[in-house]
Order: sequence, then structure tokens, then C-alpha cells
Amino acid sequence: MLDEITRTFAVINPANGEIVETIPDHTPEDARRAVDASAAAFESWKHTTPYERAAIMKRWHSLMLQHEEAIARLMSTEMGKPIRESRGEVRYAAGFVEFYAEEAKRINGEWLATHAENKRLWVIKQPVGPALAITPWNFPSAMVTRKAAPALAAGCTFILKPAEQSPLTAIYLAKLWAEAGGPAGTFEVLTTSDPAPLVDVLMADFRIRKITFTGSTEVGKLLYEKAAATMKRISMELGGHAPFIVFEDADIDAAVKEVLASKFRNAGQTCVCANRVYVHDSIQAAFVEKFAAGVRALQVGDPLDDNTAIGPLIDANGLAKVQSQVADALAKGAHLVTGGTSPGGLYYEPTVLTDMKAGMVMLEQETFGPVAPIIIFREDAEAVRMANDTPYGLAAYLYTRDINRAIRVAEALEYGIIGLNDGLPSTPQAPFGGFKESGIGREGGKWGLEPYLEVKYISLGLH
Ligand code: NAP
Repeated sequence: MLDEITRTFAVINPANGEIVETIPDHTPEDARRAVDASAAAFESWKHTTPYERAAIMKRWHSLMLQHEEAIARLMSTEMGKPIRESRGEVRYAAGFVEFYAEEAKRINGEWLATHAENKRLWVIKQPVGPALAITPWNFPSAMVTRKAAPALAAGCTFILKPAEQSPLTAIYLAKLWAEAGGPAGTFEVLTTSDPAPLVDVLMADFRIRKITFTGSTEVGKLLYEKAAATMKRISMELGGHAPFIVFEDADIDAAVKEVLASKFRNAGQTCVCANRVYVHDSIQAAFVEKFAAGVRALQVGDPLDDNTAIGPLIDANGLAKVQSQVADALAKGAHLVTGGTSPGGLYYEPTVLTDMKAGMVMLEQETFGPVAPIIIFREDAEAVRMANDTPYGLAAYLYTRDINRAIRVAEALEYGIIGLNDGLPSTPQAPFGGFKESGIGREGGKWGLEPYLEVKYISLGLH
């Protein structure tokens, strides 16, 4: 399909503003053709056995690992992720492929107890149909495989609309899928610089039976409404606003290490990054001193340099959002401990703010940047109330050595993922997803496969 395209758009390296590559700019008409191809491929793909699908997926997994360095460099170049993190993301992305290759073999039915001597009842699971995935720019490989792997394992065909700022990794992964033996039409990629009209065609097409989206809550709501017209099955992985609570009994050095890992990964541009750091009053001074020292040691620079910890932000809008949230906090009385400026380009220094108060924008909205606001609390109940006071509910973190407090607080937090003394809880075998406006459904583990399967009940009358 890509060969027929004449319109193109440029993918820009956020570290230096240079064009990385020029790629096809697909139109709504191309989207219709992609659905034709996907629907046609589904007719044979759905009849393959899980063992056949698993064999192709295992080859895909090996190819991803063989190409780890090339994929990692591509990701760092197209969206600015530090290369060490990019390598880790490729392994994480490949982990979903490995997990679902294995899980395909456990798509089992059930035999039910009968209520009548002349009846036999059973349940089977079948692929839901061609599935559409729309992904964000911040995890160019993992957000693709977290969706593609369970869809393909279930016997669905897969159409991907990757983010316009990091589509090269998606194209690379689809090529590896074909090289692994994935049949034509099973994995289509539609790159575009104008998502709405193209996605509208896909959303209106009855043949697409499932939409899985990862991105902002705002776009998620639009797609949720559009899915209703053809009753598509939906999965939504949306925005976050993660609290990280450090209690007075915490091992401060360990807590500092985990907050640093959670907050500054991908320059703070992940949906599960700590966005609000709540620290008990009695340890505030010690925590801030050690944390600020750790933050000052983070090296800002070229994403392809092995020593870089903080790369550029994705674009000028991303930088402007961070700058305006910091300016708002400072204007309302926050104290700047370190950072607070842009050293040039799309870079922003890793920043720590204290004296944060209710009403500051940063405490209400996703920052998506390398800024850690520190808020003081005195009672456990106060910390939990502030942590839950948001429409988001994706990830929350707490640091404590008290098992009773750990269990009580983990259960009270209205979040889908809890990092208990753990700043990096994501892993392919665990459920990932949010409460409230952070989404619908779960990806990862056994939970991530079910949304691609229909349950069919068969009742047999014996004569
Ligand atoms: P976004 O603006 O919502 O974009 C996500 C995807 O939707 C992109 O492919 C985008 O295409 C497409 N899109 C944008 N407007 C659309 C429209 N009107 N119709 C159809 N598609 C449309 O989000 P983002 O800025 O890429 O990603 C950051 C957000 O993703 C943050 O809120 C973050 O928290 C969230 N996120 C959530 C998870 C999770 O698992 N919960 C994981 C990662 C990120 P273009 O690229 O062409 O605009």
C-alpha cells in the first residue's frame, strides 16, 4: 500500500530540528483500502491455530531483540528519548510479544453443567474482528506491541494509526512482523499528518469491530463517542496525574531513588510519571536536600549519548506547557529549589519546586515535563485525600516501611496501578490501566487479551 502514496510529511528530530525521514501522508481513501485489506486478511487469519500464530509471534519477538539497537536509535532520534531508556523500551515492547505468543495457547473454551438431560452447553472464544489502534508518541514501540501482540494472538487483524511525531518505529515494527511471516493485511500502518478525517473513516466503518486507544483523555472522549455509532468494543489508556507519597517512616535514600526514576523518565513525558510528590512534614528538609542533589546530577543532552538522562521535550507546545505551569506555580508562591529554565531548543532543566499549594495548575493537570512539585502533608488521611482529588486514576506510588499503612493506603488510593516502594511497576504480565478518566479496560497480562475476544455460547439439543 505504501508504494502507491505520493503525499508525504516530515518526521522531525526534536533534539536538533532536523528532518529524520519523509514518509507517506495517508488519506481517508487510503484508510478505506486498509480496512478492505484488513477485513480480507481476517477471513483467513481467524482460522489459523493459536500455535501457528504463536510461531510467527516468537519469530517477531526474536527479530525485535536482534534489532534492539536500530529500533532504540530510531526512537531516540524521532522523539528524543535517552538511548538507555530506548533500549529498555525495546525489551519491554518485545516482552508483550513474547507474553502473548505464549498466552495465545491458553485461549480456552468451557464446558458448562447442563440443566436438561438432552442438552449440552459450551462456550468458545473467537477473535472480535479487525481492530484499530491509535497510539501516542511517548512510547513508540511499547504502545504498539501492547496492543498488536494481544490482537494478533487472538486472531484479529490490526490497523495502526501511530502518532505523527514517532511513526518510524511503528513502520519498522510492521516490517519486522512481515519478515517474521505475518501475512499481508494482518498489520497495516496508516501514517498521517491529519489524524481526524482519516480516523473518522475508520471509526465509521462497521467492519472494524474494536478500537484501542492510548493518548490524552480529551481525544479518548471524542473516540468513545464515535465508537458508539457502530458499537465497537473499546479500550482506552488515557492521561494520568500520578501522586507519589513519601511517609515519615520511609527509607529516604531509597525513596529519593524511586521518585527520581518515576518522575524523570522520558523527561517526565509518561502517563505514569509522578506528577505530584507528597512528603511528610517531618522529613521534608532531608528529602528535598537529597532529592535536589539527585536532580542536579541528571545530565541533560543529546538523546543518543549514553550518559544522557534528560532529552528534549517533544515539541514547542510541550515546552510551553511546562514553562507556563512553572510560571503559574512561582506566581502563586512556589519556591524554586533547582532548575526552572530552558537551556535552549526544546530542552528544559530538571526542576524541583516546594511550597506548592492548592489552586496551582501543576497540581491539577498533567505536566508532561521534568518538573517535580513537592507538597507537604501531616496526616495519612490528608495525603490520601489530596492524592485522590483528581479526575485521573492511572498510577499512584507510596513509600513506607509500615506494612499496615502500606496496605491501608494502597487500598484507599483510587488508581489502577500502585507502586508500593516501587517507582517502576510496569511489566508485560501485569494489568495496566486506570480508574476514572484515565481510561477503560486493562492492557497487559491475561487482562489484555480478553478485549480482543468475543464469548460465544453454544447450546446443543440431542435428538
Ligand atoms: P493525543 O494528542 O491524544 O494523541 C494520541 C493519538 O491520537 C495520536 O496518534 C494522535 O495523532 C491521535 N489523535 C489526535 N487527535 C485526534 C483526533 N481528533 N481524532 C483521532 N485521532 C487523533 O496524545 P499524545 O500527546 O500523543 O500523548 C500524550 C498523552 O497520552 C498523555 O495524556 C498521556 O498521559 C497519554 N498516555 C497514556 C498512556 C496510558 O497507557 N494510559 C500511555 C502513554 C501516554 P497525532 O499524533 O497525529 O496528533
